[in-house]
Amino acid sequence: MKVTLSLIKADIGGVGGHTRPSKKVFQEVKDFIEKNGKKLLLDHLVFYTGDDISILMSHREGVSDKKIHQLAWEAFKAGTEVAKKQGLYGAGQDLLKDSFSGNVKGLGPAVAEIEFEERVNEAVLVFTMDKTEPGAFNLPFYLAFTDPLWSPGLILSPDLGKGFTFEVVDTEYLSGTKVIKLNTPEDLYDLACLLRETRRYVIKAIYSRAYPKEQVVSTSITRLKHIAGRYVGKDDPVAIVRAQKIFPATEEIGGAFRLAHYVGGDTRGSHNQPLMPVKFNSPASVHYCIPIVQGIALSVHEGKFSDFVDVFDEPFWDYVREKASLKSILMREQGFIEPSMLPREELEYGGIVERLKNLEKKFKIEK
Ligand code: MG
Ligand code: MG
Repeated sequence: MKVTLSLIKADIGGVGGHTRPSKKVFQEVKDFIEKNGKKLLLDHLVFYTGDDISILMSHREGVSDKKIHQLAWEAFKAGTEVAKKQGLYGAGQDLLKDSFSGNVKGLGPAVAEIEFEERVNEAVLVFTMDKTEPGAFNLPFYLAFTDPLWSPGLILSPDLGKGFTFEVVDTEYLSGTKVIKLNTPEDLYDLACLLRETRRYVIKAIYSRAYPKEQVVSTSITRLKHIAGRYVGKDDPVAIVRAQKIFPATEEIGGAFRLAHYVGGDTRGSHNQPLMPVKFNSPASVHYCIPIVQGIALSVHEGKFSDFVDVFDEPFWDYVREKASLKSILMREQGFIEPSMLPREELEYGGIVERLKNLEKKFKIEK
């Protein structure tokens, strides 16, 4: 029997700014899923990353199932009502449309889903990010699935050695989902050319080439600005990754996050800052809300979750957090000068663009 994991996430309001959901809002979403998901779900886990609430669900309904999406949508709606009553900042922020139309994709929440024939020892990692964009997964997944310097399984395991198929989306295309499939290792340089443009090209899925029906990665590709037609916050992506045996090991996938690489996001969604790995249920930082990533590892059996490991909650990651803090300060020291602040096309607030428009009229061509 196939199992589907659905991870649906939304920002429906923060305490005193874009920090974290209030306890009441968080409890409301949890209780709603608990009560209304009983028949539909095999298991679930509700948690938060910065100001975003994530609902992880296991079930037998397949991907893009209306009932599953509706359950999450209504849970976020119920949470939004509480957020409004408490006057939370950005109450209901990610629920961009008024009514549910069968699928939360295109309505605001981020979605990652993966359906698979459960292995006897199904190991799964779940990553959730806040204050950044879907392309933030490009580098860690590139390293974990293509580079033997980072991911020794690629040369130690014959199954991994056959490579992976990457599905990459051009998020600037607005009339549908524009996807390219590339096979590693032979398409590696083409893949690199796309993944370097993190603001445009985003990994949507990765499949095993040894077992082509086996999907290993699913990532959310929501670009809120395209749905709303204006800036409404960063997209704050999520990903589900299957691990071990025919896939990279849990530690080969997690290890790539030690880079604390620079990503677009941070304050007003307008800066390049390092991605800091943080502990489960962390609030956003008031140090310019530095981009953060949380990770949990769990085992799934007959759709039921084991307890989970908070993968960034051990001493090694304290060092990475220090490194990320230093990288953050070093970049932040140059304030609004690129590349600390994002280029004009990516600035999420209109102020600078307005100014530049006005200044354009005052320029004179000297002869
Ligand atoms: Mg927010
Ligand atoms: Mg957020």
